[in-house]
Amino acid sequence: MQFLSIEDDNAVRIAAEALSAGLLVAFPTETVYGLGADVFNPKALAAVFAAKGRPRFDPLIVHIADPAALERIARLSLLERASRERAAALMARFWPGPLTLILPRGGEVPDLATSGLPTVAVRFPAHPGAQRLIRLSTGAIAAPSANPFGRLSPTRAEHVREGLGDRVDIILDGGPAEVGVESTVLDLCTDPPRILRPGGISRERIEEIAGSLAAESCGAGSLLSVPAASPGMLKSHYAPRTLLSVHSREEMLALDYRPGEGILFFDGTSRDAWFATQKMPVPPPVPPAVSSVRGMPLSPGAAPQAKPETIPVYRVFSEGGDLSEAAAKLFELLHDFDGLGLSRIRAELAPDTGLGAAINDRLRRAQGV
Ligand code: AMP
Ligand code: MG
Repeated sequence: MQFLSIEDDNAVRIAAEALSAGLLVAFPTETVYGLGADVFNPKALAAVFAAKGRPRFDPLIVHIADPAALERIARLSLLERASRERAAALMARFWPGPLTLILPRGGEVPDLATSGLPTVAVRFPAHPGAQRLIRLSTGAIAAPSANPFGRLSPTRAEHVREGLGDRVDIILDGGPAEVGVESTVLDLCTDPPRILRPGGISRERIEEIAGSLAAESCGAGSLLSVPAASPGMLKSHYAPRTLLSVHSREEMLALDYRPGEGILFFDGTSRDAWFATQKMPVPPPVPPAVSSVRGMPLSPGAAPQAKPETIPVYRVFSEGGDLSEAAAKLFELLHDFDGLGLSRIRAELAPDTGLGAAINDRLRRAQGV
């Protein structure tokens, strides 16, 4: 496996050639890192499923970097007029960006990319390096998140290296992902459209452009009963290795500290209130775990002020309660905490509006049931 920088034009050219030749390239996008393969090459697509251990019924998102590439991927003419107009308006407003649209599938797209569905998921990422890579390759790259199936999504190149290692041919490093949660998946083949996965563009922002969406987002399905609308929406997903439970703010404030557990507060207010109820001064947060210490127990050096077991281990998603900041830090903090050898992670839910819906969706799925 080669580990290269996406800032290096030569590296991007090498990676694009690798994609065109049917190899796998992990690359940064503004949401999370993707595991890319040429969408027109079924062998390369099969390698993506194998590398991730992803079930074949879970379709892939096709990434384009030029609206013209859409013609090869989707057949907008098959949509009703109202849906076609919505599609055009949403693309004009949110592309490039973290919005994936489910559209009627184009004839060139192999079955493996869509799991045999008559529809295809398409996104135009905003990351300039990702765009260069896609344009220099075949122009349409299937890319699920670059993590083993069911695990935390990678927001850094190091997460990809740890999770997939030599199962990927090239990893392009572009630093931490800006948005931090995956794209919103919106089904435009239904009227009204339906959110299949909350993500980087909130329901509220989509409704401003497309009108009212179906009230309920797609419910989480199970591995055994494949939900028709969005096969990948499994109840347990995005899971750390450490046991995780999610809590409302009220529940959080009523929790007593148990040594060995780690707490992720949504904001500074919540942290301060919790330490006040514990009648403890607020200690400095545990320092971020460097990826290389993953899996190691918290060393005494990480918390020099007192014995580690007497200091509550905590981090805060966003000191000021900013949802974008919390989303950007979500997987990062979960990855870090997962490397500390904690007995359990307790995470506070975000307010359920805007990006909070995507954050809470990921936290609940990380909890499993
Ligand atoms: P990932 O790229 O792994 O973060 O997940 C992409 C998700 O998009 C999948 O798990 C599916 O649930 C959803 N998806 C992809 N293609 C389709 C499609 N044709 N219809 C409905 N959902 C889809
Ligand atoms: Mg994923």
